[in-house]
Amino acid sequence: MELIDAQKFVGLPAFSDCPPIVNFVIPCYNEQAVLPETATRLSKLLAALKLDAVIDTQSSVYLVDDGSKDATWPMIADLAARHADFCGIKLSRNRGHQNALLCGLMSVGGDAVISLDADLQDDLGIIPEMVQRFRQGSEVVYAVRRRRDKDTAFKRFSAEGYYKLLHAMGVQIVFNHADYRLLGRRALEALRDYRETHLFLRGLIPLLGYTAAMVEYDRSERFAGE
Ligand code: UDP
Ligand code: MG
Repeated sequence: MELIDAQKFVGLPAFSDCPPIVNFVIPCYNEQAVLPETATRLSKLLAALKLDAVIDTQSSVYLVDDGSKDATWPMIADLAARHADFCGIKLSRNRGHQNALLCGLMSVGGDAVISLDADLQDDLGIIPEMVQRFRQGSEVVYAVRRRRDKDTAFKRFSAEGYYKLLHAMGVQIVFNHADYRLLGRRALEALRDYRETHLFLRGLIPLLGYTAAMVEYDRSERFAGE
C-alpha cells in the first residue's frame, strides 16, 4: 500500500496539541452584493476562532473570483490589501463553481481547508465542531443539512430525487450534503492525486477513504444577490 493511502501511523509523533491552521475557500461569481457582509461576518468569525484557540492565528480566508463580470474582483483585491485575514485568487474566466472550488482547495496550504459559499447560507456556528472532529481524527467532515423547510416543495422533491437517483446509479453520495465540508491535508493530497477533470466533488470525496464525520446544520436564505 502506498504511503498516501495510509490513514494511521504508529511510532510517529502524535498530532500536535496546537490549534490547526484552517483555511477557508470561497468561490465567488458576481457576488458584489454579498461580499461586504460576508467579509464582515468572516472576519468576526476568524477573530473569535483564533481567540478561542480553535484555529491557528495563521488561518486565512481565500476568496476565489470565478471570472465575475461585476465588482467582485476589485472588492476581493481591496479586502486582501486591507485585511491580513483575506487573500484573493482570480481565475482567467468563469469556470463554474466546482472548478473554482477545486482551484482554491489545490492552491492553499494549512492543516485543513473548509469550503463555503459566498452567500453564507451555511451556518458558520458548526465550524468549531467541524474542527474538533478533525482534531479527533476525521480527515473529512461533511456538513449536512438538518431540514429543508426553507426550500419550496418542488426544490425539496427534486433535491431528494436527485440524491436517490445518484445513489441508485451507484454514486456514493452523502445525503443532504453539498460542498460545505472540511478536508484535512491528507485528504486534499489524495484529491490532488485523483487528477479528475469531470468534476463532481460530492461524488469524489467519499471515494478518497479516510475516517469521515458528519455535523448537522440548518441552511438559511441567501441574504443578498442571486
Ligand atoms: N459560483 C461560482 N461560479 C459559478 C457559479 C457560482 O464560483 O459559475 C459560486 C457562488 O458565488 C457561490 C457558490 O458558487 O459562492 C454557490 O452558488 P449559489 O449560491 O448560486 O448556489 P446555490 O446556493 O443555489 O447552491
Ligand atoms: Mg447559495
